[in-house]
Amino acid sequence: MPLKQRLHQALHQREVQGLYRQRRTLDRQLSEVRLADSQQPVLNFSSNDYLGLAQSPELIQAWQQGLSSYGAGSGASPLVTGHHSPHQNLESRLAEWLGFERALLFSTGFSANQAVLFALLQKGDCLIQDKLNHASLMEAGMLSPATMQRFAHNDVAALQQQLARHEGSDTARLVVTEGVFSMDGDQAPLADIASLCESSQSWLMVDDAHGCGVLGEAGRGSCDQAGIQPDLLVVTFGKAFGMQGAAVLCSQAVAEYLIQFARHYIYSTAMPPAQAFALCTAVDLVRTEHWRREKLLTLGEMLIETLAPDIGLQVTSTPIKPILLGNSERAMSLSASLAEQGIWVSAIRPPTVPVHQARLRITLTASHTEAQVLQLAHCLNASFEEVTDAANQINESD
Ligand SMILES: *Cc1c(COP(=O)(O)O)cnc(C)c1O
Repeated sequence: MPLKQRLHQALHQREVQGLYRQRRTLDRQLSEVRLADSQQPVLNFSSNDYLGLAQSPELIQAWQQGLSSYGAGSGASPLVTGHHSPHQNLESRLAEWLGFERALLFSTGFSANQAVLFALLQKGDCLIQDKLNHASLMEAGMLSPATMQRFAHNDVAALQQQLARHEGSDTARLVVTEGVFSMDGDQAPLADIASLCESSQSWLMVDDAHGCGVLGEAGRGSCDQAGIQPDLLVVTFGKAFGMQGAAVLCSQAVAEYLIQFARHYIYSTAMPPAQAFALCTAVDLVRTEHWRREKLLTLGEMLIETLAPDIGLQVTSTPIKPILLGNSERAMSLSASLAEQGIWVSAIRPPTVPVHQARLRITLTASHTEAQVLQLAHCLNASFEEVTDAANQINESD
């Protein structure tokens, strides 16, 4: 089929399935935003800026200072002339903070994940991933020459069975899980997974995109909270750090290996040094501004207490609070009803989540006020009833 025809067909199919996605244009990442296509301000419960750092005046100032000191861009990939002193400082600071020998910077978490899996794994190796791992990990696993197995979400017994099949073999094995799962807000049983990996001599990689900054002592993340040290830890700066970029925390040998062999690292322009400079400030703010994490806890408790119990909010220890709704239409109507009341909570639909697991994904941030969270809860209570009544009427008339 010619490309043009195929694209049209795919777009049409998305539309009839009710899965067509659209971007909204907003002015600035705040708890209350203005959208380009509407006059009214909208409460934003859909961002990943968990600590509210994206608008931190200190961070903005640091980036400005970085620009003045180092210029607009890095000028090259890290192995050519793109690695500057702020990159080096940020790597040292991250390694020391998170307790690893080395840190290696990437422009995005997506590329960091792909770089690691592609560089480390060869044909005949075994990659074992949690079924709900991020698309960047799943895609790399599918394209990798290694054999990929997936285990049921957070199911330690299933993982143990898969590892047991390799007992006595010297196949290279890498187990990959997220610390906090982005669409469910639940946490991996990291202590159990780490001990399985240790006893089976498998390596463990943890992608803590949603945990670092939010969980653990001074925001050190899921691994700190669970008291484990994986072989590879991926942290990203697009969520709690309020910026963009990522780092792989690892041993000396792994860092050197990645510098030699990871194509996403070698053949990609280094992040702007001003960004690395600002990220050093972001790390400081994450480490020292405990009030941001405390506020998240308070707001989370408040939401749970104020929402009607039959709404089925998933109780999590993270700022991600999903409401499982099942079918996409239901999620879309609830999201639309909230939108009418000036509240933005995205409906998450397949293929981002499994079929029949459409949901609203509420995310809280440290920049929300208690009044905003109460408003969300009251509107949700009302909208939920409305949408449920409408669904029941349709069922009755069937
Ligand atoms: C967001 C995310 C990524 C991708 O990170 P970016 O820096 O946005 O590319 C990777 N893994 C997980 C679990 C994520 O949530």
